[in-house]
Amino acid sequence: MNIHFNSTTMQSFACRSFQRVLFLSSFSLLTGATIARAQQQYDSTDHRATEIYTPVPPVVTPGEKWSNAASDAIILFDGKNEDEWVKVSDGTPATWKVSHGILTVDKATGSIQTKRTFTNYQLHLEYRIPSNITGEDQARGNSGVFLASTGKGDGGYELQVLDNYNNKTYTNGMVGSIYKQAVPLANPCRKPGEWQSYDIVWTAPVFNTDSSLASPARVTVFLNGVLVENNFILLGQTRYVGKPFYSAHGPCPIKLQAHGDKSEPISFRNIWVRPL
Ligand code: MG
Repeated sequence: MNIHFNSTTMQSFACRSFQRVLFLSSFSLLTGATIARAQQQYDSTDHRATEIYTPVPPVVTPGEKWSNAASDAIILFDGKNEDEWVKVSDGTPATWKVSHGILTVDKATGSIQTKRTFTNYQLHLEYRIPSNITGEDQARGNSGVFLASTGKGDGGYELQVLDNYNNKTYTNGMVGSIYKQAVPLANPCRKPGEWQSYDIVWTAPVFNTDSSLASPARVTVFLNGVLVENNFILLGQTRYVGKPFYSAHGPCPIKLQAHGDKSEPISFRNIWVRPL
């Protein structure tokens, strides 16, 4: 059977192939072979071979300010209630304190996590260390954002929250660190009493059907608009003692930590997420 290709068919084929390679490139770690395949598309002398027209990215209305949720975001906390959250310990409704539009940690009832589960996402949240904070080192405004909560307690991958405004601690445990794995690139934290922001891009780990690791987790983090983690590749789940490890999991909740230290509890506001 003869198959005839006209120029439109060839162009469409070239574009689809090019899109597929670009998709693979963005999804997986780049390999020499992947790059070589992508570069082949540029060998064509037809400018249309390297132009993509479909699918068209969805129209999204941005928030008025950078910190405001875009139209396609899931609002996890807007100051009114904690309906999107449950206690990590038993899955019952979260009972941290909601007052004057902010959510304050209740250390007595423990960490909370989202009812929803997520894989890859963009996350925004704001936190405030109280102006009357006391303590030092790790016992001063300690909390955390677990980018995927894999179980009770501190199971998962923790982006540290801590008051490091004139408070020293180990650098891979300070604010902006992936706990005990990645030292932040800078310390842009504001002083206690001021609101601070995290903007996070999380790429979840991928596991094979035999539960082995196919690709590790990656994260990019801005603290107060300053890049503190740049596409960091995680070694596994973060741990207080011992080696990080990967254990196969699917979509997970996002967890906020109630840390056991005695310092005054911190607060959160304006939490939203855009699944990717
Ligand atoms: Mg912590």
